Amino acid sequence: MEKYLSQLNDAQLAPTTHVDGPLMVIAGAGSGKTRVLTFRIAYLMSKGIDPFNILALTFTNKAAKEMKARIAQIVGESEAKNLWMGTFHSVFAKILRIESDRLGYPSNFTIYDTQDSERLIASVIKEMNLDKDVYKTKQIRSRISSFKNSLITVRAYFNNPELVEADAMAKRPKMGEVYKNYVDRCFKAGAMDFDDLLLKTNELLTRFPDVLAKYQDRFRYILVDEYQDTNHSQYLIVRALADRFHNICVVGDDAQSIYAFRGANINNILNFQRDYSDAELYRLEQNYRSTKTIVNAANSIISHNKSKIDKVVWTANDSGNKIKVNRSLTDGDEGRFVASTIFEMKMNEQRNNKDFAILYRTNAQSRALEDALRKRDIPYRIYGGLSFYQRKEIKDLLSYLRLIINPADEEALKRVINFPARGIGQTTIDRLIIAANQQNKTIFEVLTGSNLTEIGLNAGTKAKLNDFVIMIQSFQVMNQTADAFELAEHVAKTSGVIREFKKDATPEGVARVENLEELLNGIRDFVEGQKEIADTTGSLAEFLEDVALATDLDQEDTNDDRVALMTIHLAKGLEFPYVFIVGLEEDLFPSAMSMNTRAELEEERRLFYVALTRAEVQAYLTYTLSRYRWGKLIDAEPSRFIEEIDQQYLDIITPIQEQRFNPMLSADIFGDVEPDVVRFKKPQVRKKEPAPPKFVAPKNLKPISKASSESGTTNLFDNKLIEGNIVSHLRFGKGKVLSIEGKGTDTKAEINFEHGGVKKLLLKFAKLDII
Ligand code: ATP
Ligand code: MG
Repeated sequence: MEKYLSQLNDAQLAPTTHVDGPLMVIAGAGSGKTRVLTFRIAYLMSKGIDPFNILALTFTNKAAKEMKARIAQIVGESEAKNLWMGTFHSVFAKILRIESDRLGYPSNFTIYDTQDSERLIASVIKEMNLDKDVYKTKQIRSRISSFKNSLITVRAYFNNPELVEADAMAKRPKMGEVYKNYVDRCFKAGAMDFDDLLLKTNELLTRFPDVLAKYQDRFRYILVDEYQDTNHSQYLIVRALADRFHNICVVGDDAQSIYAFRGANINNILNFQRDYSDAELYRLEQNYRSTKTIVNAANSIISHNKSKIDKVVWTANDSGNKIKVNRSLTDGDEGRFVASTIFEMKMNEQRNNKDFAILYRTNAQSRALEDALRKRDIPYRIYGGLSFYQRKEIKDLLSYLRLIINPADEEALKRVINFPARGIGQTTIDRLIIAANQQNKTIFEVLTGSNLTEIGLNAGTKAKLNDFVIMIQSFQVMNQTADAFELAEHVAKTSGVIREFKKDATPEGVARVENLEELLNGIRDFVEGQKEIADTTGSLAEFLEDVALATDLDQEDTNDDRVALMTIHLAKGLEFPYVFIVGLEEDLFPSAMSMNTRAELEEERRLFYVALTRAEVQAYLTYTLSRYRWGKLIDAEPSRFIEEIDQQYLDIITPIQEQRFNPMLSADIFGDVEPDVVRFKKPQVRKKEPAPPKFVAPKNLKPISKASSESGTTNLFDNKLIEGNIVSHLRFGKGKVLSIEGKGTDTKAEINFEHGGVKKLLLKFAKLDII
C-alpha cells in the first residue's frame, strides 16, 4: 500500500487516509478526486475494513468497473470483488430485488426504460380519452419524473394544492389522475421505471426501520463520486444510509454541476457541512490532466460565474499549445475541418483515433461530423443518442425475453402479442386491457385465466390468443434449463421475429437483421463471460438486468481504436489528449433554451468548463457562420464563451480564404462530391501529405488477430499453462497468469488482465491464447 500512496500528493493523501467520520473533497477538474476515491477504498481495505462494508456510487457503471479493477491491482481481486460499486440505479436495483416483497413487488420486476414509460403514458392518456395534444406524452413523463425525484408521490401530489392548481392552469386538470393510473399500472405490471429505483429505495428505507438498520450496518463506509450532480432522492438515500456511522465521503466540483435540468441539486454540496457538523473539508488544487494553457483558460471561463465556491486550480504540466479557434462557413465545413485536423494529427503526432474526442451540445450535431469522418475513413463511435437496446428490432426481441421472466410486464406483452402479426387486432388488445383493469389482473392472467368469451372475443381470436400463450409458456419451460443464449436464439426463430425482418430487403431491413444477430452475439458473449467466471450462471434474468441498467457509456469496447463523439453531458469525468468542442455558436451553445435566467446561463458555462477540462494536450473550439437548424439555413454568431476566455490562450486559426485553399485541407475542395469520387481522388490528396502514417500500436494493448480469436477456443486445461505465462483473451486483452488451481475440467487460472483486472477463469471455457 505504501508504494501506492506515494503516487499521491500531500493534499490527496490527507482525504485518502482519513478513515472515520464524514469528509468532503471539493476540487476543480482533473485534480484527482476520482483517484482519491479509488485509493481511499484500497486504503480502507488495507486497514482491515471488510469490503462488504464499503459502498461506492459512481456516475457510470464503466467508472465503477475501472475503479474496481484499479483497486484489485492494489489489494487483490478476491477481496475487491466483494465491494458494492456502481451507479445509484444499479446498486439500488439490486437491493430492491432482495427486498422487493416488502414493497409488494416480485423480485423479478421489470425495469421500464424511458420508451416503455412513454408508451404506457400514451396508453393511459388514450384510455382516459384525453386530448393528446394537450397531454403530451414526453412532457407528462418528464413531469412525473420530476415528481418522483422530489419524492412527490401520488398522494402527496393531491395533498399539494399548489401543484394541482399549476396543472389546472396549464389546462391539464387530469394530470394527477394520469400520474395515479401510470403508477398503478407499473405496479400491476411488476415494473419500476428508472425514477422508481430511487423513489422505492427511499420508501423502503423510510417505511421499514429494520431494513434501514440492516443496510446502515452493512454500508459502514459510503463514497460518492460526482456528488455535485446528485438529486434530492439520491441525497436522501445517502443521508439515511450514513446516518448511523457517519462514515461518508463525497467528492465533487460545484463548477461541474451540469444536471440541474434533471433535478440535480447543488445544495447537496452546500448542505454537507450542515448535515454533518463534524465534516472535514479537503481541497485539491493541482491539476494533473491538462496543460497550463487549458487549465488557465478554463479558470478564466468559470470566473464569469457568480454563484460558485472559489477554488484554485493550477498545474505543473507544460504550457502546451494555445487553444485553436476555427471558424467555418457551414456545419459541413466544420466537420471537414475536424476530420482533416484529426487526419493530420494522426500522421504528424503518431496518434491513435481514440486519442481524439469531439464534443457537442446536442446529439443532432453529430451527422455532419460523421459524414466528414467517413469521407476520411476515420473510424469513430457515437456514444448516447438512441442506444442499441432502444432500437425497434432489439426491443421486440428483448420484449419476448422480458415476458418470459415477468409475464406481468404489460409493455413487453403489448409489444409482442401481435408482432409478428398473428391476427390479434387493436380492438382485441383494448378489450384485454379493459378486462384486466376491471378484474384487477394482469393481461397475461386474463389470457390464461378467465373466460375470454365473456369479454366479447370470438372463437377465432381466442384460438390465436391461446397459441400465443402456449408459445410463451413453452419458452418459460425452456428457461428452466437453457442458458440465455440458447433460449434467445430459440425465441428469435420460433416467434418469427427474425423471419419478419428478413422479409424487408431494404438496407434498413438488412441492418435490422444484422442488429438482431449482434444482439444474439452479445448474449452469447455474456453467457460465455459469465460461465468463465466462477460463481455466476449466465441466466436470462442476469442478462436483462445488465441491459436495463447499461448507461450510454457502458457499451464502450475499450479495445476499439475509434474517435469518440458524444455530448458534453456524457463526457463528464473522462479525459482525452485532443478535444474538439464544436458548434460554439450563440443559441446553440449556450443553448437558446437556457439563456433566460442567470442560473441557466451559468449552468451552460459550467458545461463549457466541463468540456474544456476534458482535454489533456490540445483543445480546439469551432464555430460556423451558418448552420442548418430546424430544416433552415440560419446565420450564426460566435458563442460568447469564446470571448470570455482570456484571449492570450487562444490562437485564431482561420481566415476562411486560407482554409478553402490550404492544400493540407484539400478534402474541403471536393468535400461536397459523391463519396465514390472522393475515394477515387484520395490517393492524390495523400501525395501532398507528409510521409504516410506510421502505425503505432496502442501503448497498452496488443492487437489480437482475428484468426487467433477464432481458433482461440483451445482447451487450455490440457495444455501446460503455468504461472507467469502471458496470455491473450478476446475481451480482456493481454494478461499474466498469477496462479493455477484445480484439476482436469475444473482447472482455473487466476489472471491479471490489462482490461478488467484480475479474473479467475475456468480453463475449459476460457478463450485464451498463450503468447
Ligand atoms: P474530474 O473533475 O474531471 O472528474 P478528477 O478530479 O476526478 O477530474 P482524476 O480523473 O482523478 O481527476 O485525475 C485526473 C488525471 O490526473 C488522471 O489521469 C489521474 O490519473 C491523474 N492524476 C491525479 N493525481 C495524480 C498524481 N498525484 N500523480 C499523477 N497523476 C495524477
Ligand atoms: Mg472525476
